[in-house]
Amino acid sequence: MKPIIYDYSLEQLQDWMKENGEPAFRGGQLFDWLYVKRVSSFEDMTNLPKGLREKLDHSFQFVTLNEITRLESKDGTVKFLFGLHDNHAIETVIMRHNYGNSICVTTQVGCRIGCTFCASTLGGLKRNLTSGEIVAQVVKAQQMLDATGERVSSIVIMGSGEPFENYDATMAFLRIMIHEKGLNIGQRHITVSTSGIVPSMYKFTEENTQINLAISIHAPNDKLRSKLMPVNRRFPFEDVIEACRHYIAKTGRRITFEYALIGGVNDRPEHAQELAEVLQGMLCHVNLIPVNYVPERDYVRTPRDDIFEFQRILEKNKINATIRREQGHDIAAACGQLRAKHMETK
Ligand code: SF4
Repeated sequence: MKPIIYDYSLEQLQDWMKENGEPAFRGGQLFDWLYVKRVSSFEDMTNLPKGLREKLDHSFQFVTLNEITRLESKDGTVKFLFGLHDNHAIETVIMRHNYGNSICVTTQVGCRIGCTFCASTLGGLKRNLTSGEIVAQVVKAQQMLDATGERVSSIVIMGSGEPFENYDATMAFLRIMIHEKGLNIGQRHITVSTSGIVPSMYKFTEENTQINLAISIHAPNDKLRSKLMPVNRRFPFEDVIEACRHYIAKTGRRITFEYALIGGVNDRPEHAQELAEVLQGMLCHVNLIPVNYVPERDYVRTPRDDIFEFQRILEKNKINATIRREQGHDIAAACGQLRAKHMETK
């Protein structure tokens, strides 16, 4: 299989040019065609010599994502199911906000983390995506938005998979996204979300970026978290919180805690109180997410009033908390549902 062109950073493209007897600036021209002009074939890169275009075509593959399904919600959310070269399928979502368009990308085919409320993990992990396969999701979304003169203004790495178990590809993806000569997405407009892979959290802290970090916490203590997220047995609650404290102290940046509310399981007032005590004094924000119904699991949704009560308790304890606005409810919005359906049909 030919390498994917989106797997290459600007510097790597420049090196490739030099190794192939071309001046390094051709790498910059190529990068520009990929991320600024966003063409989908080497043939269209008209300021590159014809011989070079042919050589590139011979050496790299271009399109890696085939659109299998596109669902458009009444609220503007667009959900894609993309097919990969090896017949796997992944989901990517574009969400419309009043402050711009955000895209949620996937970093792995499936996931091995096993969160009990998540459809993405039902078939386990199939494989890691390459950085280029993650990049291609954003390019595809941007190409769609180009038609209406819009742009991807923010990125959340919250689709299927655990980005910190595919750490190097995730970081290579991020470096391409923030490159000023490419899509130039502001670092503060990018959020990477982890289930709490502690060694990678420490590594990410050392990267010294302005990219936001979110932790899927989903429980206020070790015992309940282990029930909801088997990964907690590998990286216990206390260690995750410690790694968060270290990140905040080292970077001075606020952390977001994602908390999926599951009816009768982790959504009682005592859970809110316990969470508030754990997070006391931390530079953080809690994002409450009422769970979507996953047919394979026996979870019910938290009643509306209880969601507000949970938020009220956190705020009374001076923990900033918001409730995630639901988007794309009419198009199987929960992570992994579209792919799960596709796999069933296959
Ligand atoms: S919530 Fe994220 S980490 Fe947990 S199983 Fe689903 S995709 Fe994996």
